[in-house]
Amino acid sequence: MENKGLLVVISGPAGSGKGTVTKKMLKESDSFGYSVSATTREPRPGEVDGVDYHFITREDFEQKIEKGEMLEYTLFCNNQFYGTLLSEAMRVIESGKDLLLEIEVEGGLNVKRLYPDAVLIMLLPPSFSVQEARLRGRGTEEEENILARLARAHEELAVLDRYDYIVYNEDNGVDACIAEIRNIVRAEKLATKRHSDVPAQYFSH
Ligand code: 5GP
Repeated sequence: MENKGLLVVISGPAGSGKGTVTKKMLKESDSFGYSVSATTREPRPGEVDGVDYHFITREDFEQKIEKGEMLEYTLFCNNQFYGTLLSEAMRVIESGKDLLLEIEVEGGLNVKRLYPDAVLIMLLPPSFSVQEARLRGRGTEEEENILARLARAHEELAVLDRYDYIVYNEDNGVDACIAEIRNIVRAEKLATKRHSDVPAQYFSH
């Protein structure tokens, strides 16, 4: 049996709870590894460098792009760079774990282009009005930033059909989301396309 780790992308509009879901999932299961992204944005209160993100300067980020050190990156709607470091992603893959990438949709689609075997999951709040309420309730963002992130939801939903799965995150739905994502990963691991070696194996003993 082929036993490759999966590359799982979790995307979703701001307020979808993808950060919470991803963090809890990683805590509960050691079959997943996480790649700490790099960003040029300022840390939010409580965020720790090297844990939540590698917080780096724009100059550093641009240098890493030039040197080919980014697996994927994007200039997000707050005009800040975000990207997956190749070194971080390789560290996880080489450890034999499934790699969980919590990234926005442009990055997700870039990953799919590079790795067609990647599984793209879109996490959605139950509705746009719930999304808005969650974002305002978070209280960590400027109004301008909230509006930009709400506007961005249209672009995110526009590429939904290029994602493989939708998971809804209802209020207090974190555990249900995690169960759904685990089910998706379990089913994907049984997909025939990931087991092209089975006929040869089957008849060999
Ligand atoms: P935030 O500022 O809320 O932490 O993140 C903003 C957006 O950037 C989120 O949609 C998040 O998923 C995305 N993001 C975080 N890290 C990466 C990354 O490495 N690559 C890409 N393409 N997006 C990322």
